[in-house]
Amino acid sequence: DGSSQSGGFDLNEDPSFWKENNIQVIIRIRPLNSGEISQQGNNVCVRQDSCQSVTWIGHPESRFTFDLVADEQVTQEKLFKVAGVPMVDNCMAGYNSCIFAYGQTGSGKTHTMLGDIENGTRRHNTNCGMTPRVFEYLFHRIQKEKEIRNGEKLQFTCKCSFLEIYNEQIFDLLDPTSTNLQIREDLKKGVHVENLTEVTVSSARDSMQQLIQGAANRKVAATNMNRASSRSHSIFTCIIESKWEIQGIIHRRFARLNLVDLAGSERQKSSGAEGERLKEATNINKSLSTLGLVIMNLVSNKKSVHVPYRDSKLTFLLQDSLGGNSKTLMIANISPSYCCALETLSTLKFAQRAKYIKNNAIINEDASGDVLSMRLQIQQLKKELRHLR
Ligand code: ADP
Ligand code: MG
Repeated sequence: DGSSQSGGFDLNEDPSFWKENNIQVIIRIRPLNSGEISQQGNNVCVRQDSCQSVTWIGHPESRFTFDLVADEQVTQEKLFKVAGVPMVDNCMAGYNSCIFAYGQTGSGKTHTMLGDIENGTRRHNTNCGMTPRVFEYLFHRIQKEKEIRNGEKLQFTCKCSFLEIYNEQIFDLLDPTSTNLQIREDLKKGVHVENLTEVTVSSARDSMQQLIQGAANRKVAATNMNRASSRSHSIFTCIIESKWEIQGIIHRRFARLNLVDLAGSERQKSSGAEGERLKEATNINKSLSTLGLVIMNLVSNKKSVHVPYRDSKLTFLLQDSLGGNSKTLMIANISPSYCCALETLSTLKFAQRAKYIKNNAIINEDASGDVLSMRLQIQQLKKELRHLR
């Protein structure tokens, strides 16, 4: 039927997918663009071996295995079915979840996470990415759930927030007047951004409106404040809370879904940069290099190794998604172009390491008042104990 190995993959054939505690890692190879073809012909730096493995064709050749390798045949829709649907299902079940897109500038991170958002959602637009599809599917699931469980007084509350981390400062994309927000941590709210706008949304359309508004604000800031989006990280968060009643007992569940579009992973050239530019280059390096270090230390075999979550805004905010209470998926985007060979290799190595991170997701549910908060406190204390050791 003309579909490639991964274009034609069947999720059901691989029962191990999504069943484990490890971070799931998908490699997405974007198509060559016309500029690359006119310069290099069809010369590529990677060869896909199967729907789970890819070979970097350099010296020496290196083969990598992942949970999934998606080539350019894999459409936005297909990727969502494989990667997005299970994440939304996780959230509906009360698990915190996180999808983050990694890769050098131009490798397809924004295409993957947002895609074409200008032209409406899914039914009309095959190019829209993960986030708009999450909205559609999430509200569809909520509707279905309410129909099925109509005897339980089931209620859902969805909120969303959208922020950008640039130069180690946090900006509220839903309120552009709000800049340099601070991260706080307490037992009740966990790690959170103080004063970040949270908008209650009741449909996919509502959510889409916030996404489009935030993306537009990001563009304005890029032009007026010189905040290049290739050098900033953005995090769109959906907070889903539900409440229902069975035999007089009130149950509550909540989960956060983080959708993260990371800054370009390419090596920053700081040569020649001065003042603000130099500070910026170092700080961009700081969030991504701390991410690298956190991952390195999490997967190291040594016990009692310090994990420097607090050394950057990005890792502090994402700490639950990295080795904590979360189901996490990394989509590492690569360019197959010959001229990107070294950056592609470095992304493959990074993604390879991330695969070994073990998370420990628990269902955030509370049936009797404070069991959940006690569980979270225990988790928090364990974490502090790990810091002390
Ligand atoms: P990044 O956000 O990583 O800098 P982009 O998502 O902006 O990269 O992608 C760069 C260009 O490549 C865009 O024009 C995008 O539409 C295109 N592109 C990326 N991935 C794909 C893909 N899988 N299929 C088709 N076009 C893609
Ligand atoms: Mg981008």
